[in-house]
Amino acid sequence: MRILGIEGTAWAASAAVYERTDSGESVVIETDAYEPDSGGIHPREAAEHMREAIPQVVERALDIAREQAADAGEDPDESPVDAVAFSRGPGLGPCLRIVATAARALAQRLDVPLVGVNHMVAHLEIGRHRSGFSAPVCLNASGANAHILGYRNGRYRVLGETMDTGVGNAIDKFTRHLGWSHPGGPKVEKRAKDGEYIDLPYVVKGMDFSFSGIMSAAKQAIDDGEAVEDVCYSLQENIFAMLTEVAERALSLTDADELVLGGGVGQNERLREMLGKMCDQRGADFYAPEPRFLRDNAGMIAVLGAKMYDAGDTIPIEDSRVRPDFRPDEVDVTWRSDEAV
Ligand code: ATP
Repeated sequence: MRILGIEGTAWAASAAVYERTDSGESVVIETDAYEPDSGGIHPREAAEHMREAIPQVVERALDIAREQAADAGEDPDESPVDAVAFSRGPGLGPCLRIVATAARALAQRLDVPLVGVNHMVAHLEIGRHRSGFSAPVCLNASGANAHILGYRNGRYRVLGETMDTGVGNAIDKFTRHLGWSHPGGPKVEKRAKDGEYIDLPYVVKGMDFSFSGIMSAAKQAIDDGEAVEDVCYSLQENIFAMLTEVAERALSLTDADELVLGGGVGQNERLREMLGKMCDQRGADFYAPEPRFLRDNAGMIAVLGAKMYDAGDTIPIEDSRVRPDFRPDEVDVTWRSDEAV
């Protein structure tokens, strides 16, 4: 079985081929990233990038699928993929519409089903898939989102989430104040290595967290003359401790003993270290996918697309409108039969 995945919710114009055979599986990802000249992600510029880059990454992925089909001795007149999966949302409307148009056209051209994937559930499922965990709690720490999910009765439930901005966006807004280019997360990680702790806000309310106060306080600390290294270090320590605290409470409340991490901020070593230690201390297992599956990528769309395709969860073209505010708890989880947390 072979699925073509297409991703384009914000900055990553990406296409991937997921192949599963008797001898194993593989995921090949082709990505062309949008890099703003200045500031953060501009929706119009990001959409222009999608318009130019999506046809190219899709063609490259299709070439790979054709090669795989030829190696498997398949009929060259048949479609090299069994379905086309695309990210339906959440994300920037103008970007989503371009990706959806490409996916619909491709599915029609190849005469294969279309699969509409929730991008945040894909961030979760890639970790569950690669870890082999059966019933993990998932922390999604990405640019535009931050939430903790647990599975119950056919849905991923939002156990806790940000009350304002996404976690990566908060870090990026802080680095814009410093005049650093996008994305800011890796730069903060680097500078934090030489920092010492200064006091910054820490906001967890029940199972929810807030990042806008700490982001403003970090900007103010810079304006007040605090060392950049110290602000970066303290920003990371507090934000990641907030995420770790809520993740621990989610494990405790659901009696789960597996945690997976998803999203681009998950590439941060300090966050992974904190979550790993917390899990060790409670005797839980922790898994973070490799970086290519953490940041936005079409591999996770293809992998979840394959699970949905197996479950018969495809959509007619006329029902495939994009969903810029698509929440993960709106998705019927058709591909899991277990009733675990
Ligand atoms: P979403 O998946 O919610 O749509 P997104 O499209 O912005 O979010 P992701 O690729 O999941 O994309 O995450 C991008 C974010 O990850 C950016 O905010 C970036 O600063 C952050 N990031 C990348 N590397 C690191 C790092 N090493 N440390 C912290 N943050 C990082």
